[in-house]
Amino acid sequence: MSACIENIEAFQIEDSRKRPALRVVVHAGGGEGSFDVPSGASTGSREARELRDPDGGLTKAMRCITEEIAPALFGRDAEKQRLIDETLLALDGTPLKERMGGNSLIGVSVAVARAAASARGVPLSTHLRELADIPRSRHAPHLFVNLINGGKHAEGGSSIQEHQIVTLDEDPRAAFVTAEKVERALHELLAEEQRPFTMGDEGGVVFPVTDASTAFEVLFRAVQKAGAEKEVVLGSDMAASSFFGNGTYTLSGSSYDTAQLSEQYHQLIQRYPLTFIEDPFDENDVPAFAAFQAAHPGVVVIGDDLTTTTAAAITEAGTKGAIQAVIIKPNQIGTLSETLAAMQAARVEGVHCIMSHRSGETMDAFIADMAYAYGTLGLKAGAPSARERAVKYQRLIELYGNH
Ligand code: PEP
Ligand code: MG
Repeated sequence: MSACIENIEAFQIEDSRKRPALRVVVHAGGGEGSFDVPSGASTGSREARELRDPDGGLTKAMRCITEEIAPALFGRDAEKQRLIDETLLALDGTPLKERMGGNSLIGVSVAVARAAASARGVPLSTHLRELADIPRSRHAPHLFVNLINGGKHAEGGSSIQEHQIVTLDEDPRAAFVTAEKVERALHELLAEEQRPFTMGDEGGVVFPVTDASTAFEVLFRAVQKAGAEKEVVLGSDMAASSFFGNGTYTLSGSSYDTAQLSEQYHQLIQRYPLTFIEDPFDENDVPAFAAFQAAHPGVVVIGDDLTTTTAAAITEAGTKGAIQAVIIKPNQIGTLSETLAAMQAARVEGVHCIMSHRSGETMDAFIADMAYAYGTLGLKAGAPSARERAVKYQRLIELYGNH
């Protein structure tokens, strides 16, 4: 049996930041699949480039899909994901997908996988599992829930990009209820303390801070107010490349070298149950990651800008002991096959995978299907009250409910 690709369409929709986003629809073997492509703001320098018009629009990307990619894929078998993705890579021909854009390529690549699952009449997770054998980390993922936004996702807030709660419950429904409870407690706490706040890109709150600990202090008090101390730990995406320049980290008004920044993190770990730390140092400083991970074996250091969903970078970071987990963002690399290769490379090194949204999101919940299919350590998808984020957690709950 095969699922011949019959039609590929591209549309421009809006993402959560009200910027143009790409929707790709593929028809194959009587089945249909689509993907609404998200977009990052705090991007790693080695991630796939987006193709956009000078005004941010997507006419060039849509033309690329309908005029170049579609004719090359007509009649091809959507079930042969690796061959489809190799064709996409050959058509683009550049290391960072500058010519056609990682957004065009991942749009087609994921839509092809969904069309193939639809044509076969099998759940997407079943089809995904047949594409790649990736050892599971957990029965159900921890939810990495970003409740206080900062960095490039917010104006007027902390230099630290994400202050998260990380749920411990094995049942995604119970975990999501806890996340909602802590989010409500946080909003109530800020109102009680008359601390004005705005909303950041990922649906978390934003308020001014005096130092690196302010937002963690507020978040931890919200956890206590919700009575959720046993149900969550804390996590963070430092996104340190965004506050690094000329050999110095400038964090909420103070300057630090690598050793001083490590000491700041050390103090946070002493004060709060901060268990997961993403991108604590600049994306080019693997030795700093490795030294910090070795000194704090109880903390899970996570690569994102460091590794950009790229198999070779993950292997290097894993071999050097720089990380225990890695962020997986399909649009960061540009094709589904490369995403799966990155996840396999991680698991070979004993590194766990965390499926992640982007700061500019759509209503698409593909990452939840990925988290479910491969039993990833985590699903990182922002604040429960933001609809583009909640839809991912809801999809995960639905999948485990059907299980
Ligand atoms: C991140 O850095 O982990 C993130 C989700 O942000 P962005 O999508 O802006 O890269
Ligand atoms: Mg990150």
